[in-house]
Amino acid sequence: MMTRKNTDKSYQYEYSVGESVHIKELNLICNIEAELGSGTQGKVYSLITPNNSSLALKWYFPSMATKEQYGILKSLIDIKSPSEKFLWPLALVENSEKDGFGYIMPLKDKRFKSFSLWLSRKIDPSFKVLLTACFEISQSFHLLHSKGFCYQDLSINNLYFDPHSGDIRIGDTDNIIINGSEKGNVIGTPKFMAPEIITGNQLPNTQTDLYSLAVLLFYILFLNHPLEGKAESSIKSLDIPSMTKLYGTNPVFIFDPDDSSNFPDPIYHKNALIYWNIYPEFFKKLFTKSFTKGIKDPQYGRVRETEWQIALLELRDSMYYCRKCGSENFLDPSFRETLGLSKSSTNLVNQDNLSSTILQNLNCFKNNDDVTTCWNPTCKNINHKIMYILIDERKMIVLNHDTRLFLHHVDFSLGYDFTRIVAQITKHPHNDNLWGLKNLSDTTWKVETGNSSPIEVLPNQSLLLTPNTTINFGKTKGIIYY
Ligand SMILES: [Zn+2]
Repeated sequence: MMTRKNTDKSYQYEYSVGESVHIKELNLICNIEAELGSGTQGKVYSLITPNNSSLALKWYFPSMATKEQYGILKSLIDIKSPSEKFLWPLALVENSEKDGFGYIMPLKDKRFKSFSLWLSRKIDPSFKVLLTACFEISQSFHLLHSKGFCYQDLSINNLYFDPHSGDIRIGDTDNIIINGSEKGNVIGTPKFMAPEIITGNQLPNTQTDLYSLAVLLFYILFLNHPLEGKAESSIKSLDIPSMTKLYGTNPVFIFDPDDSSNFPDPIYHKNALIYWNIYPEFFKKLFTKSFTKGIKDPQYGRVRETEWQIALLELRDSMYYCRKCGSENFLDPSFRETLGLSKSSTNLVNQDNLSSTILQNLNCFKNNDDVTTCWNPTCKNINHKIMYILIDERKMIVLNHDTRLFLHHVDFSLGYDFTRIVAQITKHPHNDNLWGLKNLSDTTWKVETGNSSPIEVLPNQSLLLTPNTTINFGKTKGIIYY
């Protein structure tokens, strides 16, 4: 049965289960399967389709079915999605018996969950999954921005991830506009909006998207808002003037090296303090830049999507499992330089010279133990002999039981691609303590162990992992270290 809201205006816009939907542009007649949700702009329904494709319909509330929105949808449909990660509009739908209009988009698979489930700790994904998701988010926004679009409303509410793989989907794509256009219907979500939008000095654009991206990544990886420290917890009632000050007129990063006025409160912001100790300095510096220089200088101070991508992959490659508790830890790539093992940093991220006594003091490893002590407060185990491979003295990849090397690890000229595996760690069939590296590429490796004459490792053959082994992958050389 059809239900009605706004009966005083006698609008008819809702669909009921089983009702048919004619999608002229796709030459399809579908039926409503279920109502999936109701937001501020309209209702979303799943559809039963004749060809079993997974589609959804969003139908706007009458007040939101504006001419501008219609025009935005039309141009998004014409341009097509930058990647399959976006739940992009596929076709407009109009119905002579209903007010307004709607659009068809891909239906989000059930494996994708809201990040809010992670923030409330109802699901417990691994760091590897979270870093993969953050990488995919940064990559997707790079693609979107490079097409000249602005998302406008980037927040935790319109992104979804698979807690087992880190694969992502991006919803609410009907708010995407051409960068610089003033036609949009939204200005963002509180707490994710750039300070210059809150103060009324700017409308959403790609630079404000970059600010929202940094907030989102910080939220996902630190389980805390980057501006919510003791300045926030000391406020008794978080009303609009105090929120405007906190997020707009006087935003202070909780780990600002030059201003401790908003440092995390040990009672209310435990997560921020725990997680700040887990990640290597090179990674944290990007957040420090985002919320110090990036707040004051929206045009040039913000961290770009490509910088996030490089740093997130470097972090993902530096992960190792604590041998005692199994927690995921990170081996700071700069430890080689600090210990005099390397003249140049392995860090590929272009870092700013942030004047920070706090950061300098933290970055002073005296020996290997300083970088391999498990962060888990109940463990604190010192993990000796973390095995890693250093490729062309630039790229460090820790070798764990589940590590795989991808083509972009051994050929720096190629873009990131997690589908092209070139090597994988394997266990010896009769001895769990002996690990091998299996050649899954179609190139023969030339291997030198130092003690004996060079050998060849053919495709599908494995090599016993021992320190000081040099592997020539073709375009690059890797050396294995403890
Ligand atoms: Zn541990």
